[in-house]
Amino acid sequence: MQGRCPRCGAPIKGIYRVGKSSNIYYVAVHADGTQHYLGPLHYKYGTRTNKIVVRGGAVDINRELKYMEEITKAITEERLGREDTINAIEEIMKATTELITTATQKYPEIATAITPWIEYINKLIQSQ
Ligand SMILES: [Zn+2]
Repeated sequence: MQGRCPRCGAPIKGIYRVGKSSNIYYVAVHADGTQHYLGPLHYKYGTRTNKIVVRGGAVDINRELKYMEEITKAITEERLGREDTINAIEEIMKATTELITTATQKYPEIATAITPWIEYINKLIQSQ
């Protein structure tokens, strides 16, 4: 996979899921073999009493990401059923499409940084 590290912009071999204890996180592996940590699949917070729980203030710029992580956690823990899961993915993909379209129109150069993620998602879907 060709691309750039989303954190530092260095050329990368790819983005990989890494399982560690009970969590899964992503790393970008640079062309020279060094890695950059990209973040966890699930944040270790929230409660198990509600379907979706997000903490943090309204001005938290990571709030939307936390919602997505909470949705993923709710699917894993079977708090979201099949139909809710399909609806959640559809809404997220629509929002993501709009985000990418708007962001790449405003900042065309970011296409290089997000291409590895798009390729990763394509690979993930093709492996299903
Ligand atoms: Zn990097």
